[in-house]
Amino acid sequence: TKLIEKEKENPSIEVDRKPATYIHVERDQEIQITRLKLPIIAEEQVIMETLSENSVIILTGSTGSGKTTQMPQFLYEAGYAENEKMIGITEPRRVAAISMSQRVAREMNLSSNIVSYLIRFEGNCTPQTKIKFMTDGVLMKEVECDFLLNKYSVIILDEAHERSAYTDILIGLLSRIVLLRKKKGNPMKLIIMSATLRVEDFTKNAKLFKEPPPVINVESRQFPVTVHFNKVTADDYVREALIKTIKIHTKLPEGGILIFLTGQQEVMYLVKKLRKLFPYSSKSNKTIEAKTKNEETEIKHDYSDDDEELDMIFNIRKAIKHKKKNKRQLVSQMTLPKINLDDFQMPGDDTEVDFNEEDDEKSEKDETDEHITQMMGELGNSQPLWVLPLYSLLPTHKQARVFEKPPENSRLCVVATNVAETSLTIPNIKYVVDSGKQKTKFYDKVTGVNTFVVTYTSKAAADQRAGRAGRIGPGHCYRLYSSAVYNNEFVQFSSPEIQQKPIDGLVLQMKSMGIEKVVNFPFPSSPDRVQLEESEKRLKILGALDNRDVSKITKLGQSIASFPVAPRFGKMLAMCHQHNLLEYTICIVAALSVQEVLQEVPLDGENGNKDTKWKTKRRTMAGSGNSLLLGDPMILLKAIGAAEYAHSQGKLQEFCVENGLRMKGVLEIRKLRIQLTNEINLNIPNLSLNVDPKMNPPTDQQAKLLRQILLSGLSDQVARKIPDEELKIKEDKHKLKYAYQIPEIENPVRMHSCSILKKKQPEWIIYQEIFEIRNGDDMKMFVRGITAIEPEWLLKFAPSMCNIIKTLEEPEPRYDSDEDKIYCHVRATFGRSGWTLPIAEI
Ligand code: ADP
Ligand code: MG
Repeated sequence: TKLIEKEKENPSIEVDRKPATYIHVERDQEIQITRLKLPIIAEEQVIMETLSENSVIILTGSTGSGKTTQMPQFLYEAGYAENEKMIGITEPRRVAAISMSQRVAREMNLSSNIVSYLIRFEGNCTPQTKIKFMTDGVLMKEVECDFLLNKYSVIILDEAHERSAYTDILIGLLSRIVLLRKKKGNPMKLIIMSATLRVEDFTKNAKLFKEPPPVINVESRQFPVTVHFNKVTADDYVREALIKTIKIHTKLPEGGILIFLTGQQEVMYLVKKLRKLFPYSSKSNKTIEAKTKNEETEIKHDYSDDDEELDMIFNIRKAIKHKKKNKRQLVSQMTLPKINLDDFQMPGDDTEVDFNEEDDEKSEKDETDEHITQMMGELGNSQPLWVLPLYSLLPTHKQARVFEKPPENSRLCVVATNVAETSLTIPNIKYVVDSGKQKTKFYDKVTGVNTFVVTYTSKAAADQRAGRAGRIGPGHCYRLYSSAVYNNEFVQFSSPEIQQKPIDGLVLQMKSMGIEKVVNFPFPSSPDRVQLEESEKRLKILGALDNRDVSKITKLGQSIASFPVAPRFGKMLAMCHQHNLLEYTICIVAALSVQEVLQEVPLDGENGNKDTKWKTKRRTMAGSGNSLLLGDPMILLKAIGAAEYAHSQGKLQEFCVENGLRMKGVLEIRKLRIQLTNEINLNIPNLSLNVDPKMNPPTDQQAKLLRQILLSGLSDQVARKIPDEELKIKEDKHKLKYAYQIPEIENPVRMHSCSILKKKQPEWIIYQEIFEIRNGDDMKMFVRGITAIEPEWLLKFAPSMCNIIKTLEEPEPRYDSDEDKIYCHVRATFGRSGWTLPIAEI
């Protein structure tokens, strides 16, 4: 009846009918049996009927109920991929897009040409693709090129509960696109899928949907999970996790163990510990063969793949400990004369206070932990433990190992970050060990300061984690914190990303799509006003928005937005027209856009110290003289240049290992460089940049111009060294020896010791990132990614940050007939703090 009523209302539109076709899918019997056990299968008819009657539906259901793997199949069978149309599914995480497309292809017995994926730098889509998994960022780009998304008959926004910024914006955009497509007689469906039940933001939002879309909840067959709280909340949750895992493995019946920690370092540390305690030898267990439908894949069960990575992390810890010992010595001998400090210092090292004291004490203690040794002694032998890490920077093929069967007679143990919380369901988990913590990069909306903080997760996340234990049968979740902490310290839900992260790129992207008043956009939860204003201010400084009316995008802004990188990097590309500089700029921009390519200890307070063996290598790469002033970006240029050479010789892997580069990162940079080069070749006629990413190091003159280009993108991230005469108090002098001042921030900041310019201490610098590290009550701010600049350049390359005080009559203004411009000398100051600039010509 609903359908008939609808047709009466709007007889010309026959849009909401589901295609009558039924496409047959030939599945393996074994797959079919597993599928039929998934709770979503029982709901297929209800879901598909509701979808045929509505343009938008919301599908909720607990993790593992089959939403991601089955929904695309239902749609395919119902004919949504017919008539040259595609089924699109977005995932906030790249890992999920890849692994889910592979799984669905396998379940449907279709090749990756038909069930494909596309993430930022890679994909296997073909013209035959019918089901396309992609990251939400990729779909956002597609909306920019084809606003109506005409290729798709249906879009699924998966994991909407994660509230990633792109998914949030896509919900707003798609709510409109669906209406437009309906008007055009070319209807499209939207399915919003979410794990936890916090759908009010989507349904009770009149701006978003006039009528709330129907919500279908898939009741899942979840077995009871007994939650055990710790009596007390131990500070050292990694050690607690270790002890708990030992107990589970040695005392409790079979079933996989899943441990949630906060970051790669912790994960790898625990993995190594566990592997040492419960060794697994591939020799004793012969390689097992697994048969898949068409090919015979060999599953090799050995750890050799991980050794390098594990060793690196251990070596770093050792190096730090060694250094600390020296430092202690140094401190105790400080009062004695005749000590040559250099004897105790690694080259380039300075007596910076460590902020990882606690962490280090812990690792020292761990090595000889009597408690654990004693415990192990009492427990005697046990079966081997098959220990696998899982975190987002782990190479894809290693991530996939968690889905494989563990070797015979061994128990699976996955040590993961919150990747394993909702997007990936690891089979056969019976025990969950939850640290209750996660690592978040906090961002101060006003100052732009980033902080890495380990915080408690939300109640929703903790319950999610616990739920992972109840999928095959009754399970257990061991929370390494007390119930009081859970009740009092955990928030119900964590706040959406769009309210936490800088949104400059998103704001610019929206403006370039014609959404001028971003404030009025139908966000599921609006970003806060201060944050929006700050973003617009920064974009105005870049020259991307109109100086008088920030709702309008400028021509420069349009070209900045056309690059698939952050606005300040887009500006650098837009600013640099000279052929021979473009290649370098592209390389720097690509390297800066990809996360942590240089393998160092992450700057998250776990291990702030940079005294790795790479340090000397980096120093040689930085060059000397004028080149050195390009600073940290120069290291990236040289490292990438050398890596490309190694790549052409087929020796990239060895090169990365030897020089401490993250290979996945290097390959991503390569892809981004090729992509950017192609785009620039398309945009600028008569230019044909070489797509081959090999290049020579820049000359001194080029390095200088590159510094100016970097300044044009980082004009709001300038710092000046605090002059010695301003350091009045003696104590200050010691403390602030390496300190810089930033116009917007009262407290001094330091150059982080990972910077190559730390020794040189140039007076004026620009920086890539500012962040703070807390150690107890002690809080310090650091900048990293440093390039030296000359104050004379500021008027030209950071004009909106300068205030002209006076135009000088001497020397006389001159007219340049080539450019049709008058040049004169001016006196000016910089920033809010009014630093005097040298007289310069503009
Ligand atoms: P949801 O999206 O509702 O969380 P999924 O569709 O992701 O559920 O998962 C359904 C089932 O498919 C789970 O039991 C999961 O373990 C299984 N599964 C997913 N990917 C794989 C894979 N690559 N190999 C084996 N099983 C998988
Ligand atoms: Mg899912």
